[in-house]
Amino acid sequence: MNEQNQELERVIGWHLEITRRCALECPACPRTFDAEKVGPLNIDLKLDLIKRFFAKDKLPLINYIFLNGNLGDPIYHPDFHEIAEHFFAAQHLAISTNGMIKKSFWERVIRTWPENSLLILSIDGLKETNHLYRVNSKWKMIEDLFEVIARTKRKCKIEWKYILFEHNHKDVEKAHELSKKLGIDSFRLQKTRPLNSRMNKNGFLKEFNGTYFDAEKNKKPLKELAPFCKTLDMHYINAEGTYFPCCWWPSHYKDEKQEFWEDTNIANLDLDGAYSHFKKFTQCLNDFDKAPEVCKNFCTKLEENTEELLTPNSQLNRKFLGNSKKEWEIKKD
Ligand code: SF4
Ligand code: SF4
Repeated sequence: MNEQNQELERVIGWHLEITRRCALECPACPRTFDAEKVGPLNIDLKLDLIKRFFAKDKLPLINYIFLNGNLGDPIYHPDFHEIAEHFFAAQHLAISTNGMIKKSFWERVIRTWPENSLLILSIDGLKETNHLYRVNSKWKMIEDLFEVIARTKRKCKIEWKYILFEHNHKDVEKAHELSKKLGIDSFRLQKTRPLNSRMNKNGFLKEFNGTYFDAEKNKKPLKELAPFCKTLDMHYINAEGTYFPCCWWPSHYKDEKQEFWEDTNIANLDLDGAYSHFKKFTQCLNDFDKAPEVCKNFCTKLEENTEELLTPNSQLNRKFLGNSKKEWEIKKD
């Protein structure tokens, strides 16, 4: 492998917000609670820009591509299938989605996605509860998706991701059973982010930590960072094409970011250029006291477990790299 390819290979994982579109209005999503601040919500990362930046011959060097994003659901990109199928050439491909789209869309995905791919379905409850957080979702469409999963011979892996709230924790066992019946490969519980009054205007949503997350309690933060970006993991490109070291960066600490990170667009970069841009930034991660606040908030190491971060990057369980956290044990409340 030549020197340039060795450099490229080190940028191991990319997280892409390919669109800001979404049919749902989840209350704790910045797309909902910060709608007036985040700018236009109908923009897409252009297919030709994606294909130029992630040229086909470079894809085998990339460990994984994760289609998700802070402000949209990837399934609503008008060129979704062309984009996803372009990334079949990467080592791994994953998507996180609310699942609310027509059956023929899922038939194409589930029939064609390769064995090194993962669909993460964000379904936070069952018929009576999923729509309480996933506002506007229709259970009939989830049932249609389940029907496609049950009857289609597939190679891709499927995970059911379930955010726990007070209103849906009673459905966990049943949902877990249903996932097994459908042949879904994994079932993962996720703790909701701390809710504030803007995310929860009517006070209806309540976090549920219960016994599921006992292992996380009582861990104290150290004065040390464990930046996952530094291992070149989950670098982020938003729907405008702006490149960031991670998905936390664009939505937090807008005033301070100018000092540490110069915004740059993939229209003006290639993969190598992005890596050089990032290398300059890493200087600010060496001294904890001088590090950006966003990094202290999200990437401070917790005592007693060198792998745990203050806020774990829960958006991709890193099965791909073989160092994933254990799935939460399913216990009775
Ligand atoms: S489905 Fe995802 S992008 Fe859409 S509103 Fe909910 S959290 Fe936001
Ligand atoms: S919060 Fe900072 S240290 Fe953590 S991944 Fe993002 S840029 Fe890196």
